[in-house]
Amino acid sequence: MKISELLHSQDVGISCELFPPKLGSQLANAKEVVKEMAELSPSYMSITYGATGGTSEYTVDMANEIQNVNHIPALAHLTCVSSTREKVHSVIRQLKEKQIENILALRGDVPVRADFPLPNQYRYACELIADIKSQGDFCIGGACYPEGHPEAASMYEDLDHLKEKVDAGCDFLTTQMFFDNNIYYNFMYKILQKNIHVPVVAGIMPVTNSGQIKKIISLSGNMIPPRFKAIVDRFWDNPAAMRQAGIAYATEQIIDLIANGVNHVHIYTMNKPDVAGEILDHLSEIYIRR
Ligand code: FAD
Repeated sequence: MKISELLHSQDVGISCELFPPKLGSQLANAKEVVKEMAELSPSYMSITYGATGGTSEYTVDMANEIQNVNHIPALAHLTCVSSTREKVHSVIRQLKEKQIENILALRGDVPVRADFPLPNQYRYACELIADIKSQGDFCIGGACYPEGHPEAASMYEDLDHLKEKVDAGCDFLTTQMFFDNNIYYNFMYKILQKNIHVPVVAGIMPVTNSGQIKKIISLSGNMIPPRFKAIVDRFWDNPAAMRQAGIAYATEQIIDLIANGVNHVHIYTMNKPDVAGEILDHLSEIYIRR
């Protein structure tokens, strides 16, 4: 099923995200995680793709496991900046063979490793989107950044590029995580001004350990609201309390989004079905699992 069809429905939809294993020896375990996550009946499940090799090897296998073994629509991520066209086309072919029709088309972070020379065949996600479109009837998603992409000179420059990306053939967008819903609501006004009208799935990250927060800030430059900072300051050295508070905070964000008319939320579940399960238990009358 195409994700665009799900996103045009008025029903509340909750999707979740997994990352693939690095090694073949970890594949059986990873498939078990897919099964546990699928038992929660998310509306779709996405599977990431490591821009610099590492975790890209098994993305197609995992998408196949999600969709063809566990019967949940799969969204396969695909990055381009560190790949050749040949490699990208081969992944698209494999996805097509397995009837995976949803791709999240990404540039990927530009690798800084000296031992990783860039092929320089793609510069931006919009080029990948045009390429995927030319190769089949895929439903294509793109990433967007309610606080601006960290490399962009300004939010407005980033929005101009987002408009180009949508015009290249994006059927929907998924946001980078944010910890203050007003950031998402303000972003929605800004994209409307740019005439961007595709569905925008709100990305929510449950922060369940204090180590995650430093990594998040360094990678994405996210703004941490005082209410969330107070939670981290109070519970950083109590893992069980931090986990509980992080799940409650993410759940509250999701309820507020849905209450304000956002029908589709993507949870960055990071291979933790227990965390996804607790959030969905709190939403049992709001998100009706099928
Ligand atoms: P782009 O849309 O290409 O934008 C990158 C930068 O270039 C922005 O600053 C933009 O303003 C600028 N830009 C775009 N077009 C132009 C242009 N024509 N001219 C000049 N500047 C331009 N990374 C992974 O490695 N694997 C994953 O699976 C993965 N999944 C993700 C899922 C989501 C929902 C999100 C939000 C991010 C994900 N990422 C993933 C991270 C992502 O790859 C990085 O944030 C990356 O730096 C940007 O990717 P993009 O597709 O948004 O790039």
